[in-house]
Amino acid sequence: MARTFDKIKIVACILAASFWFAPAIAQNISTGCGKDMQQRHKQFLDELGKKNFYSKASTDKQASDELILWLQAANSRIVKHENAHKSTAGKWGGEITYLTFKWWGIEYATAGCVPYKSGIPLNTLIRAQLAPDRPSAHDQNSAAKVQQFIKIKKARAECLLIRRKSHLAGEKCLKPYKAYKWLDRYPLD
Ligand SMILES: [Zn+2]
Repeated sequence: MARTFDKIKIVACILAASFWFAPAIAQNISTGCGKDMQQRHKQFLDELGKKNFYSKASTDKQASDELILWLQAANSRIVKHENAHKSTAGKWGGEITYLTFKWWGIEYATAGCVPYKSGIPLNTLIRAQLAPDRPSAHDQNSAAKVQQFIKIKKARAECLLIRRKSHLAGEKCLKPYKAYKWLDRYPLD
């Protein structure tokens, strides 16, 4: 079964890490899409392994054709999904990276990832994460987390206003959000 599984390209992780947020936000939002992408790649291979045509594809022409159609459909679905993230992120979207499965010399996408550049406005990030027709669980989770960060950012802004009038009261107000100063680098829009 494992004979045709191609080697996983570990490029995304490193690339994503350099783009994907400042360390603080990376800890809070996502440890990088590299890990998530590899998980989806593995799921893809598991799903493929369960397909009847896959086990027959190396000896049976019809099964091989069926496999190719299935891979092509998955490939276009994945490319469309990642393009939706990237186009919505606009200038904040880095280069898309893919993990692939190789069949008869042709690589088909199994999972993809768009790294976002540091400083991406939080509302843009949410829109980008939810841009595809069917956002993944990872997409939805990270969008929900960013929504939380927006609340914290707004609360911090209010505390800063309070601090202008009373330093002590302002500091007290800011205390629960001490670990979120990094949010200052991420505008809302
Ligand atoms: Zn996605």
